[in-house]
Amino acid sequence: MPSTLIIGAGGVGAATAHKCAQHNDELGDICLASRTLYKCEAVIEAIKEKGNAKIQNREISTAQVDAMDTEQVAALINSTQSTLVLNVASPYCNKTIMEACLETGAHYLDTAVYEQEGYINEQPPWYANYEWKYRDAFSASGITGVLGIGFDPGAVNAFCAYVHKHTIDTVDTIDIMDVNAGNHGRFFATNFDPETNLREIMEDVIYWENGDFVSIPHHSKSMTYDFPELGEHKVYSMGHDELHSLPFNIPSKRIEFWMGFNDQYINCFKVLKELGLLSNQPVDVEGNAVVPIRLLKAVLPEPSSLAKDYSGKVCIGCLVKGSQSGKDTEVFIYTICDHKECYKEIGSQAISYTTAVPLVTAALLVTRGDWNVQRLVNVEELNPDPFMELMPKLGLDWDLQQS
Ligand code: NDP
Repeated sequence: MPSTLIIGAGGVGAATAHKCAQHNDELGDICLASRTLYKCEAVIEAIKEKGNAKIQNREISTAQVDAMDTEQVAALINSTQSTLVLNVASPYCNKTIMEACLETGAHYLDTAVYEQEGYINEQPPWYANYEWKYRDAFSASGITGVLGIGFDPGAVNAFCAYVHKHTIDTVDTIDIMDVNAGNHGRFFATNFDPETNLREIMEDVIYWENGDFVSIPHHSKSMTYDFPELGEHKVYSMGHDELHSLPFNIPSKRIEFWMGFNDQYINCFKVLKELGLLSNQPVDVEGNAVVPIRLLKAVLPEPSSLAKDYSGKVCIGCLVKGSQSGKDTEVFIYTICDHKECYKEIGSQAISYTTAVPLVTAALLVTRGDWNVQRLVNVEELNPDPFMELMPKLGLDWDLQQS
C-alpha cells in the first residue's frame, strides 16, 4: 500500500493535505511535515472538521522536519514508510529532498524549480543548473521524479503537451497566461510564499525566442488579453519555470509567460523595490543582520490567511498557435477557478487550490502506474491524456477554444 509524505504546511501544503485525504484510499497513510509543527496540526484538525478524509480511520499524522537536512528527511521517509514525497516547502529545499528520495527509494514530486538562497537572475535553463543533474541517479534507482507539477508550472505544461499531441502538430508560439481577478481585501499581499513570489517578479524576464533565451527588464513588456469569463486584463511578460523545460520538449519559435497585475500591485511593488525592501542581501540593523525581503515576509499576510475573505476568479491558460496538417490553428486551453468555492471545499484560496489539485492528480497517476516512469521528468514529457481526464475529477475542470 502506498504511503504519502507531504513536506511544507503553508497555503499549498494545506490544500495538498486536504486533497490527499480525499484520496487516501489510493494514497494510503499521510504524513504532513514542516518546519513549524503547529501549522501541520492545524491542517489536520481542519481536515477532520470538514470530514475531508475518504477513509476516516486511515492515519493522517504530523511531523517536524528541517527539509534542508537530507538525513532528517530520509529518516522521516523511512519512519513513515513513505513511497511518495510531495515537496511543497520552499524551493530552497528541492535538492535535499530529492537526495533523501534517492537514498530511500521514494518517488518525488515538486511544484517549483530549485532556488539558491541569496541569489537572483539564475542563468537559463534553470532546471539544467540543479534538477536535471539528478536525471541519471533517478534512472539508476528506478524512482520517478516529476518536476514542477503545480498549475503553472504543471498543468499548463500538460496543456501544451495535450494540444501538441492532439490539435497542433507544428507549434509556432505558446503564451502561458495567468490572471487572478480575485480580491482579498488587503492593501498588499502575495498569493504564495512572498519571498519566492516577489523574487520571480523582480528578476529579469527570460523567455524563449528563435532558438535561444532572450532577457528583458521586468515589467517592460505587456499586452491586454480577453480571458473567458474574466474579460480583458493587462498581463506582463515574466520569467517562469515552464520556459526552462518546454522549449526542449515542444519545439516552438517563441514561448513566453504572462502574469496579470493590477495598478495597485505594480505601485506597491515599485515602492518596495525602490526602498530596497525586496533585497535578499542582509543589512545591519542595530547590530543584527536583517534580510529585507525576510522582514517583509514577516509583516505581510500569510498567503493561507487570505482565503476566507477572497472573492472572484482566476484564469490560467495557454494560447498555442501553429498548424495542424499544414492548416493554421489557434487554441486557448484553460482552467477557471473560484476563490470562494475553494474556501468552501477545503478552506483554501484558489492559488493554493490550483497548485494542489494537479500535484495530487500526478501523485495518483504515479501511484496507479500511468506516470510511474521511473526517471526524472518535466510534466510535458509525460502522456497528458490520463492527467487531462483525471484532474477534473479532483476539482479542476478545463476547456479549450479553437479557431
Ligand atoms: P508558504 O511560504 O505559505 O509555505 C511554505 C511551507 O514550507 C511553510 O510551512 C514552511 O514552514 C515550510 N518550509 C520552508 N522551509 C522549510 C524547511 N527548511 N523545512 C521544513 N519546512 C519548510 O508557501 P506556499 O504554500 O504558498 O508555496 C509552497 C510552494 O509551492 C513554493 O515552493 C511555491 O513556489 C510553490 N507554488 C507553486 C505554484 C505552481 O502553480 N506551480 C503556485 C504557488 C506556489 P514555516 O511555516 O515554518 O515557514
